[in-house]
Amino acid sequence: MTRKATEDYLEFKKRMIDSISPTYCAAKWYNATIWLGHGQSTSCHHPPAHHIDVKELENNPSAIHNTKHKKKMRKMMLEGVRPNECEYCWKVEDIGRDNISDRVYKTEIFKDEDIIATSKMDWQEDVMLKTLEISFDRTCNFACSYCNPGFSTTWVKDIKKFGPYVNIQSDGRGHFIDDAPFAKSVGKTDEENPYIQAFWRWWDEGLKDNLEEIRITGGEPLMAGSVWKLFDWYKDNPNSKLRFAMNSNLVPKNELMDKLIKVSHYVPQFEVYTSNESLGEHSEYIRDGMVYTQWKSNIERLITEGNLKKLHMMMTINSLCLASITEFMDDMLDLKRKHGSEYPIMTLNILRFPSFQSAAILPENIKTFYKEKLETWLKYNMEKNELDCKGIPLLSHMEQAHIQRLIDYLDVIKTPHKQTSERTKLYNDFKNFYHQYDIRRGKKFVKTFPEIFVKWFDSIIAVIPSEEEITSKVYVIDTGLKDRSGKHSTEEGGYISDELLDSSLDGSGLVDEEGGYISSEILNSGTVDEGKT
Ligand code: SF4
Repeated sequence: MTRKATEDYLEFKKRMIDSISPTYCAAKWYNATIWLGHGQSTSCHHPPAHHIDVKELENNPSAIHNTKHKKKMRKMMLEGVRPNECEYCWKVEDIGRDNISDRVYKTEIFKDEDIIATSKMDWQEDVMLKTLEISFDRTCNFACSYCNPGFSTTWVKDIKKFGPYVNIQSDGRGHFIDDAPFAKSVGKTDEENPYIQAFWRWWDEGLKDNLEEIRITGGEPLMAGSVWKLFDWYKDNPNSKLRFAMNSNLVPKNELMDKLIKVSHYVPQFEVYTSNESLGEHSEYIRDGMVYTQWKSNIERLITEGNLKKLHMMMTINSLCLASITEFMDDMLDLKRKHGSEYPIMTLNILRFPSFQSAAILPENIKTFYKEKLETWLKYNMEKNELDCKGIPLLSHMEQAHIQRLIDYLDVIKTPHKQTSERTKLYNDFKNFYHQYDIRRGKKFVKTFPEIFVKWFDSIIAVIPSEEEITSKVYVIDTGLKDRSGKHSTEEGGYISDELLDSSLDGSGLVDEEGGYISSEILNSGTVDEGKT
């Protein structure tokens, strides 16, 4: 870590990030999320994925990370332009209350000299990764409401059985209109897949010696055969310093759980990232496939029987999880009390796609109610300042900042992303989606969630299909749009958030000719390329 012990995140940002450029993020160089199954890459997990050019892999297996697109994004960042695709960070920063966005957290993990090196190298140069998240395929036993067939074979089954969701009109519709054939793995076996083969070639040619952390994502990694090959590599390299992490829903078949506990002992530094953000029946509704008690018991087993350095709790903040988010965090504090402050470490990741499931689109009365509940919870726990068995605060500064960021988000943010559809379409989709989800998955929204949500749900007037139409797949009316659209921020222009355009916040920069946002810091430093303003 490069942040000094005496520095807070803001001071680190000023010293290390702003001195390179006000839009810099080291994740564009040293971090990647790569979907090897169907050949897509991105820098951190927030920007939408883009395709890897298979032709480039013949002579350069590092092109699974060093794509032409990523190099253009690096150039923009060095020039102080905000890449559209990094909207997640710009939204948080534009709240205007010194909120720390992920680009600070994702830069501070690298050494000063490595960060400085990126500012000196040619933007077209290939870079060796330091932290990597990879997925071998989309096989998964869950079909969470905010996920889609691109990431889960159980979602593929839902679409194959019942057909597309109908009447979905907003920018999230692309997730639910087909079984995402583009995300189908290339080749029948790993040997036939050029992306997986490029990964193993790059691994042997130096990746394994330079990487500091490898993290496996899915689908559900425990269901991917190639994952066990990595555990075998650790068995043969017991002194490796390479941190190994895995995302897992932690509700696998019992034999896979037993196997995971056994092989975790091969890895000196093994960390698990699991996801959840609400309690019991809310969690089981939102994350279809979840069995809350089994999930909790598997967590306990992994901590006590396995070899686990840290447990990370990735909370995907969607609108419905607000119903029991504070009760869920209480449950996580209980785990911390029992096993220490790093079991688990909570991160609150704000969902943007599909927009109709975002907390930002909720009616003001619901947002205010849960914002105040979160404020009370945070104040109480900060004042309590409880310590774990080693004398470390149960709730870290980072966790407090994440919770505060959500409170501010509920207070200020109006739209989850720049191309969000208008509110009437979002409400129509909220009603239509959960109505159809209930019938397809055997669930009941109005019996599961508190009155404040149910009242709003019931008040939405929308054309919805009958149960018979859904099960027979024959619809009288379908008002849904059938194109994939739901324009994500992949175009190469720059970015300015709706909140800055609204000008109730301080947007003292300028929008350039291509739509790129140039910050006031860059304007004042005189380093803007001619013609950009
Ligand atoms: S979304 Fe944020 S953290 Fe991710 S690459 Fe972009 S600036 Fe960095």
